[in-house]
Amino acid sequence: SGINFDNYENIPVDVSGENPPEPINDFAEANFHEWIKENVEKSGYAKPTPVQKHSIPTLLGNRDLMSCAQTGSGKTAAFLLPIINHILNNGPDAVKQATTATNGRRTYFPSALVLSPTRELAIQIHKEAAKFSYRTNIVTAILYGGRENYREQVNRLRGGCHILIATPGRLIDIIEQGWIGLAGCQYLVLDEADRMLDMGFEPQIRKIVNNGMPPKTNRITAMFSATFPKQIQVLAKDFLKPDYVFLAVGRVG
Ligand code: ADP
Ligand code: MG
Repeated sequence: SGINFDNYENIPVDVSGENPPEPINDFAEANFHEWIKENVEKSGYAKPTPVQKHSIPTLLGNRDLMSCAQTGSGKTAAFLLPIINHILNNGPDAVKQATTATNGRRTYFPSALVLSPTRELAIQIHKEAAKFSYRTNIVTAILYGGRENYREQVNRLRGGCHILIATPGRLIDIIEQGWIGLAGCQYLVLDEADRMLDMGFEPQIRKIVNNGMPPKTNRITAMFSATFPKQIQVLAKDFLKPDYVFLAVGRVG
């Protein structure tokens, strides 16, 4: 794994949308919280990849983002670092952690939701989130399908949850059971959106986003996709504010 920067230095990046922010050339330019700086360094990330150079200032500037880039271009840190920074700067304690629902269950309200098409990708994102939030009191949680891990996932939620990484089907189940509420979700990320649509998750994604989540005007939404077909364009129009920043890194299929 890791990134071959030789392939990336000259990669064309097409940025459009209303007033896209200037890219950062260095992680230092992002002015991240001290702990994030340390964690980025510990990860061995010496410099940002092209998708990170543009996505990080976009999301730090509270702008919506549609980012098209191939696998292995560093998309995970591109959305996780700004989200973790935001939560740290707002104080993780400021996040409404739990409340008692009418059915007597504790409902957790994450401030960021990352939707992933598969369990494998969700696990990968969760690992990166743990790495970048190391030594902070930000709590991350993961939800994915499978009979054997339902109880364990619910039990883990008791530790709280600032950043939730989930596959759509299991998340809907957990919301319906009253364990998770999305009313406090300030960040929504659709990772590998094209794959989620290919797998038939569009109705589930729409259900999650259109029920109980703040409207797009009151949240920051980032969509990532390797391709930009009509179906993704429609989803972008529905989920992103009209002034979203559009990023195409390399050749978009
Ligand atoms: P994508 O989501 O675009 O497929 P990932 O976020 O999974 O890409 O990153 C691919 C690999 O590159 C991972 O092993 C990740 O840790 C590493 N990586 C990401 N950004 C950097 C960076 N700036 N410097 C070095 N390695 C990086
Ligand atoms: Mg990825």
